[in-house]
Amino acid sequence: MLQASPSPAILIVEDEPKLARLLDDYLTQAGYVVHCVAHGFEVVPWVQQHAPALILLDLMLPGKDGMAVCRELRAFSAVPIIMVTARVEEIDRLLGLELGADDYICKPFSPREVVARVKAVLRRLQPQSPSAASPGGFVLDAQRYCASLDGCPLELTPVEFRLLSTFLTHPGWVFSRSQLVETLYADFRVVSDRTVDSHIKNLRKKIRTIRPEPDVIRSVYGLGYKYEG
Ligand code: CA
Repeated sequence: MLQASPSPAILIVEDEPKLARLLDDYLTQAGYVVHCVAHGFEVVPWVQQHAPALILLDLMLPGKDGMAVCRELRAFSAVPIIMVTARVEEIDRLLGLELGADDYICKPFSPREVVARVKAVLRRLQPQSPSAASPGGFVLDAQRYCASLDGCPLELTPVEFRLLSTFLTHPGWVFSRSQLVETLYADFRVVSDRTVDSHIKNLRKKIRTIRPEPDVIRSVYGLGYKYEG
């Protein structure tokens, strides 16, 4: 099931058409599915609909700058973001702002370097190695799909396991249902929101048998779900 993952989708946010095309070519050649947008206002709606695997986000954009876009994305999304800036001195400032970007690239860059960074970020964010201890008394073994809470085994289906693993990797982050679908099924299949809800319901029920309250997986009205340990 895990091996059958398709090409991840990369969103390029870049208002210089030549640069966007260059990145598109290189990332497509590297085996990614690429979509480009040029306007700051287009990013959030596109991400909400498509849940890309990673975003290359230019800082200077028409409409809404990359910093504002990054902040808005982080309010609902854990999608990996690589910020792109034309000024090397910007990077320190960006790091200081703690926007929640995963990496920074300075212009001018070599497209090869960008591809290498994209690969590195995606690799870093892959499911953790076996037996990684997680917050709140959970322990997940990603190789055997075993989980426990406070030392008691949790009998989870693979889908429930991946859900829990996603939440624990980013405590407090709100995941939309479409993002959860993406982590559950690596092939972007069409799954209704209600399917996600019912998996969450079952996962909560199993957690509650070990720890009756409070509910660690919370609903966030109109947005999705988050983990709060
Ligand atoms: Ca720009």
